[in-house]
Amino acid sequence: MKKWRFFGGIHPAYSKEMSSGEATVEMPMPGELTVYLSQNLGAPSKPIVKKGDTVKKGQMIAEAGGFVSAPVHAPTSGTIKAVEKRPFPLGDDMDAVVIEPDGLDEWEEGRNVERPIEGLDAAAIKKLIHEGGIVGLGGATFPTHVKLSPPEGKKIDLLIINGAECEPYLTADHRLMLERPRDIVEGAWLLAAAIGVERIVVAVEKNKPDAIAAMREAVKGRDGYVVADMDVIYPQGAEKQLIYAVSGRKVPAGGLPMDVGVLVQNVGTAAAAFEAVRFNRPLIGRIVTVTGSGVARPGNVLARVGTKFADLIEFRGGCSGDTGKVINGGPMMGVAQPSLEAAMMKGTSGLVLLRRDEAGQYSGGPCIRCGRCVEACPMRLNPSAISIFAERLRFEDASEFNVMDCIECGCCAYVCPSRRPMVHHFRRAKAEMRKAPKKAG
Ligand code: SF4
Ligand code: SF4
Repeated sequence: MKKWRFFGGIHPAYSKEMSSGEATVEMPMPGELTVYLSQNLGAPSKPIVKKGDTVKKGQMIAEAGGFVSAPVHAPTSGTIKAVEKRPFPLGDDMDAVVIEPDGLDEWEEGRNVERPIEGLDAAAIKKLIHEGGIVGLGGATFPTHVKLSPPEGKKIDLLIINGAECEPYLTADHRLMLERPRDIVEGAWLLAAAIGVERIVVAVEKNKPDAIAAMREAVKGRDGYVVADMDVIYPQGAEKQLIYAVSGRKVPAGGLPMDVGVLVQNVGTAAAAFEAVRFNRPLIGRIVTVTGSGVARPGNVLARVGTKFADLIEFRGGCSGDTGKVINGGPMMGVAQPSLEAAMMKGTSGLVLLRRDEAGQYSGGPCIRCGRCVEACPMRLNPSAISIFAERLRFEDASEFNVMDCIECGCCAYVCPSRRPMVHHFRRAKAEMRKAPKKAG
């Protein structure tokens, strides 16, 4: 299969060997689960339970808050302890349903039962995926049923199943491909059937040869699948970059993959879709990588949505002594955590703990116009100019330089010799521009 090389990108230290070699371990039930009402990109979900209610595992506890939203389900059976604001991994405190597990882990009736999927039409598959609360598990958390509903006239002819996992340290997708390759393939088939696509490319970076072999074995004898070994370069797994690398198609600025006839779904999303449709198991847990030299026993954990970061870390032996930074996600695109009381969400792929001496500090020094960031930016932006505008609160100028196209990959910050906090500037500028009134014409 021909492959294309996108512009820019970097080769950071991947540090994946810390956690990739060991099988995923299921975590025992924690004493409390914090299930946020905002688990997806789009509208938050609306709670349908209150303090004192008892719930079963898999029972819906919050309904979708609109079309671009997804329902949320109880990760175990137990009692609702509170519906209140709790520390949130992505910023200010967020409304959450707090569950005290009863230890029985008892499914709601009708859940966790095998049902036939042969003969399901596109509408039925989409409905079951929506009811299962499935969102993009690669980090974007866009509700999957929305991605499967392109507007009239948009024809999609290629499904890319994203197993690139280019973010350093993270190996949750790697382990999933090794441990459940057939579930990914079945899920990909369901996603393809939901949009009438017959061509599926499973894209995996070459630094995971065992995962590539496992996926190739799983697709053997099935028509329409290609497992592509992709070059190892960050951010190979970013949606627009992966589409170009696989198909040579360029998503226009401000456009969507569907504009070039492509749908991208993460390997975890495919497996979750399979579980929802085949077994009526909603999305209530996932594999999370807990890794870095700041944790005693790095590894992958199968944990319930709502598990607090403190519990995940304790399960992996606790901090290793001089832990200086805990990041939700990977070091390139993740968010540093001020509180370990925050809990994992559907989109939490990893928790990276760095020692104090590794946790690089940004200096905010002046730009020396070296141009390295321009060469590294996979979106062909001018990060230097944008960061200077943002620093001076000239957000409209940053917008003129297309800050809204920034995918926050962090390549520019990684190569910047002045250690400028580039992504911080871009997030601020983007937030300000979203708030700004739209100009007429
Ligand atoms: S963070 Fe934004 S500006 Fe920087 S390299 Fe990535 S896309 Fe370009
Ligand atoms: S890499 Fe840093 S110092 Fe060099 S041009 Fe970009 S912002 Fe300026």
